[in-house]
Amino acid sequence: MSDFHVLIAGGGVGGLTLAQGLKRAGISCAVYERDPAGAPRSGYRLTMNADGGNALRACLPDDLYDLYLQASRKTPPRGVAVVIDEQCHELTTQPHLGPPNDGERPHTAIDRRTLRHILRAWLGDALHDDAAVTGFTDHGDHVEAQLADGSTVTGDVLVAADGVGSAVRRQLMPDVEIIPADVGGLGLFARSPLTPEVLAELPDVLLDGFVIARDKRGGMLALGVYDPREPVAEAAARIAPDIHMDAVDPYMMISGGVPPGTSAPAPADWTDDTPAEVHAGMREVVADWHPALRGLVERIDLSTLFWFPFRRLDPVPAWPSSRVTLLGDAIHAMMPTRGQGANMALRDAGILSARLAGAARGEQDVVAAIGDYEQAMRDYVYPIMDLSEDHSRFGGGGLKQGSGA
Ligand SMILES: Cc1cc2nc3c(=O)[nH]c(=O)nc-3n(C[C@H](O)[C@H](O)[C@H](O)COP(=O)(O)OP(=O)(O)OC[C@H]3O[C@@H](n4cnc5c(N)ncnc54)[C@H](O)[C@@H]3O)c2cc1C
Repeated sequence: MSDFHVLIAGGGVGGLTLAQGLKRAGISCAVYERDPAGAPRSGYRLTMNADGGNALRACLPDDLYDLYLQASRKTPPRGVAVVIDEQCHELTTQPHLGPPNDGERPHTAIDRRTLRHILRAWLGDALHDDAAVTGFTDHGDHVEAQLADGSTVTGDVLVAADGVGSAVRRQLMPDVEIIPADVGGLGLFARSPLTPEVLAELPDVLLDGFVIARDKRGGMLALGVYDPREPVAEAAARIAPDIHMDAVDPYMMISGGVPPGTSAPAPADWTDDTPAEVHAGMREVVADWHPALRGLVERIDLSTLFWFPFRRLDPVPAWPSSRVTLLGDAIHAMMPTRGQGANMALRDAGILSARLAGAARGEQDVVAAIGDYEQAMRDYVYPIMDLSEDHSRFGGGGLKQGSGA
């Protein structure tokens, strides 16, 4: 048990949660993350549910779990999504997916960068930034991973948590295709600041959960509040003073909202003028909408505006298990429609860390333990991939990818 060692490719939310779970179980692991420490990352709100939250409770030390709860949105969600018209009249709701989420501090929403910061805390020497995994060799009784600098590292297991473009999956499952996922305007994200004055004037329906506003001309805007239970930096100073957390002011995440059919350049082709041009289109769409929606769009912080080209996978039929396995987007990247991708990655991490800990204690053969995890993961994730795919009926609309993309 003592020398059992797990290699993790990718330090996103899934890989880091796995590392926390293994650490909590006393299992040695190392995370190899492609990006350098401090690389700029888009900050936006992640809808959390009990699947993801329960995995965090199982994997994190109690203090970090408490910090996650305090840094999460304070208002309990009513459902995953509420659909309204452009005058803020409620039209319908999307039912809650996942286990009951009604404890004292239910799982709500968190700023992605804040969550990642919490997940990296206290992992110490196990974190290796600027260390992309490029391939692996499975020796049967151990695995060797190759890194971009030409070095190799060795462990009992290699877990691919390296996202939809996974280099490990490319080698393990060369036939799996990445499918460009046209989410239309929902690929556009921005933040609008939520001061106490703005919050006080918003209609209650905009505070419910994930809100989609639509008009009859095809205009569409998705919104989600992030207002933590306790200011993030203060919560960190109180609960885990050795962790420095950047302050995050409350914001409304805004997605979509450009005139239907608008073309936008690929993210790499954005110029300094692109955010203002995109914003002008958004303001045009909401010109005659409810003043609260109009105000939110008008106050968008242009420096936070970005467009994300989503990609997804189809469910992969069962494969022979080995010492190399996958979690999160590396094996089940899905449409963003239901806000499930990160929650499923965390759920994977919770189950896989428990299975690997059992194998490390000699309770089960390691490949059998991985096989049990993989079967469980396919059973709970694949139906959600199917549900998420019906995106155009629920979301969609607006921005189209330009020819340069
Ligand atoms: C705009 C947006 C909004 C979203 N909203 C929600 C939401 O509200 N709720 C929800 O549940 N999900 C949401 N998702 C989906 C969610 O973000 C993903 O499902 C989740 O991030 C998957 O986590 P992961 O750890 O598997 O992969 P990732 O988060 O993609 O992390 C993969 C990591 O691996 C690293 N990496 C890549 N290649 C290599 C390599 N070769 N070697 C080493 N490291 C590598 C990357 O740098 C990255 O850090 C959203 C996604 C987007 C883009």
